[in-house]
Amino acid sequence: MRCDKIGVMKKYITTAIPYLNARPHIGHAMDYLLADVWARHETIGGHEVRMSAGADEHGTKVEQKAREAGVSPQQFVDDLAPTFRVMIAKLNVGVTDYVRTSDPEHARRCQEIWRRLDAAGVIYKSKYQGWYCSGCESFVTETEARAMDYQCPDHQKPLEKVSEENYYLRVSKFTDQIREFVRTAVVPEFRGREILELIKDGAQDVSISRPLEKLAWGVPVPDDDAQVMYVWVDALSNYITALSYPDDDFAADFWPAHVQVVGKDILRFHAIIWPAMLLALGLKLPRTLLAHGFINVDNTKMSKSLGNVVDPIELVEQYGVDAVRYFFLRHIPTFEDGDYTTEKFIAAYNGELANDLGNLVSRLANMIDKYDVPSAWRDSQSRIAAEVAEFHKFMKKFEYHRALETIWTAVQSCNRYIDETKPWALAKTDSAEMAQVLNVLWGDIMIIQALLTPFLPDAAAKIRAVFDGDTVQPAPILFPKVDI
Ligand SMILES: [Zn+2]
Repeated sequence: MRCDKIGVMKKYITTAIPYLNARPHIGHAMDYLLADVWARHETIGGHEVRMSAGADEHGTKVEQKAREAGVSPQQFVDDLAPTFRVMIAKLNVGVTDYVRTSDPEHARRCQEIWRRLDAAGVIYKSKYQGWYCSGCESFVTETEARAMDYQCPDHQKPLEKVSEENYYLRVSKFTDQIREFVRTAVVPEFRGREILELIKDGAQDVSISRPLEKLAWGVPVPDDDAQVMYVWVDALSNYITALSYPDDDFAADFWPAHVQVVGKDILRFHAIIWPAMLLALGLKLPRTLLAHGFINVDNTKMSKSLGNVVDPIELVEQYGVDAVRYFFLRHIPTFEDGDYTTEKFIAAYNGELANDLGNLVSRLANMIDKYDVPSAWRDSQSRIAAEVAEFHKFMKKFEYHRALETIWTAVQSCNRYIDETKPWALAKTDSAEMAQVLNVLWGDIMIIQALLTPFLPDAAAKIRAVFDGDTVQPAPILFPKVDI
């Protein structure tokens, strides 16, 4: 991270690349939203931000789905990839770089990365005998397998025993640095501790290729026709190929990543294998690895077979982007699993967005306009300084849901202040006092919109347009109430 101007830094934020074997769901959206809040937060701080996203398009599951659909794997992912881009756009997520792993440019860069890993002496060939989850398309170490009782918790099926000749990445060589990385970079801490437990006897080497006959749809291993790269080198590399690594135009000043957002299910790959790759390549390690939980629907895991998959695109079309951003950023705890139901969504929409925030904005704009209040808000004494301090404390810890909660404490405090001071009564008895009260609120709503900007960019901009001046503009209805 190099400083160009005083204090201006280049910050790179990444989102995990979803596996393209099904349509996007709200779990994918969580990744983008968490990354986008941080990107906007840093942009507001005056920094130069790049954010990457992408699609993980190789692997046997894609091959299989394509076969079922009667199309080529490339055709299959070409058909599916745009829906993810649509979701990113619909969620108002500011992605600057996008990598599809089936892009020949990405494949070429991966092969060069492989060569560099090989030159660094961390790739060797060996026979793999051990555990594999075909659902995760993931080899599982003996320690991990034992910890999950030989059954994949995410796929609810027994691990398979496989035996094949593969290339390996010498992850074990970096155990000490990986431990240090996990201690300093993984957020939240309790997830870091789970990873440290997994590698308490040392990190284990991992297979990074598969025989061509088992996996044809992937990046060929350079100089070996019989082997195809297996997820790690191909998928994890997207975070650096997005910056053109290892080409001459590699945007090295954006590396290391400031924040990498991942789901808890893929944290162990990002916390163990990824730093090993980076260390072998001589690259710095990411500053923060932020792991979030899963979203359940009605306290049940989302699944296609249960028919309870929530489509974020439909939600945005029905309720608007900021309502969707609000619910998932506030009511799904940033680090834990959370629960979505239509009832909870509508209760938050009507209660917190339409009532608390919407009413504050419209009441305040109406009174300032009606009583012709002379503008003095820039010099008014804020009543929400404590909430602002709390907000920043939570943002530093990436506890977005609590940061948003704090903004709502401030919003509710403003509403209470209106109810208690009754500016409409003061207008008749003490217009100086009335003007003072409304200017305090005027200043505070400007603070609130600033805090809201990374979370609800559209609503914040609308509030700013109403209040940012010496007079107010007519307030639009930010969140029209919906019927239950
Ligand atoms: Zn699995």
